[in-house]
Amino acid sequence: MTTELSGTSALVTGGTSGIGRAAAVALAALGAHVALSGRDEARGDQVVQDIRAAGGTAVFLPADLRDAAGARSLARRAKEALGKVDVLVNNAGIFPFGPTEKMTEEDFDSVYTINVKAPFFLVAELAPDMAGRGKGAIINVTTVVAELGMADMSLYGSSKAALVLLTKSWAAEYGPRGVRVNAVSPGPTRTEGTAAMGESLDALAAAAPAGRPGSAEEIADAIAYLATDRASFVHGAVLPVDGGRIAV
Ligand code: NAP
Repeated sequence: MTTELSGTSALVTGGTSGIGRAAAVALAALGAHVALSGRDEARGDQVVQDIRAAGGTAVFLPADLRDAAGARSLARRAKEALGKVDVLVNNAGIFPFGPTEKMTEEDFDSVYTINVKAPFFLVAELAPDMAGRGKGAIINVTTVVAELGMADMSLYGSSKAALVLLTKSWAAEYGPRGVRVNAVSPGPTRTEGTAAMGESLDALAAAAPAGRPGSAEEIADAIAYLATDRASFVHGAVLPVDGGRIAV
């Protein structure tokens, strides 16, 4: 097993599915002690078992990120379970698509709570400790539609655009004390979360040079890179892993 991240601990939100699960597996494979969170205990336990079977160490922390208290509680439990959190991956997210006039206030509040408020308060709890130790890495999972205007993605895209700006703000705020804050911006990616999109995921992906959806592992590789010292001079970056969609 590679040991690039040995001695470090990582918290991955939304680690029960898709990109978050692949990120948890990738970080554990590099030697990190991983805490993964989500609401679904059975899927969480399965990911932990898979990581342990591959020789890694992991723990599942159940958490509903629908309010600041849930985020703060998760951060505290992660510190207790891991001893410290060196790497935070803000991955949990929801992405309801549809016309602006069809979105309810409840949709609006859910999207902004899970996609913006939860990362905000996780960082508020964890970044000061990282800064105190003089080292840490935070990786936010955004989306290509945070930077492209796309019909039916106003609510989702705008929430992730907030996370893009937070990535840069936090890089400025915590970077001078050794905490690197970056984002990975995936394009259409095959996960449980996009399974219901069927062929429309392929249609979206066809607009990019790669011409196909990505896999969760392809996104996780970029997350893992940003977590390691290989990215030691990378601060405040938004790394597109989108098959080239941002380029065309
Ligand atoms: P997914 O398969 O639907 O997984 C979403 C994860 O978020 C699950 O682990 C889920 O855990 C967790 N989650 C959702 N609501 C939660 C809540 N209220 N409290 C706590 N955890 C919650 O999604 P994915 O496709 O892997 O996407 C992961 C991230 O990548 C998201 O931020 C998404 O916006 C972003 N992204 C995805 C794509 C894509 O095409 N797939 C493209 C660009 C960006 P539980 O179900 O266990 O609660």
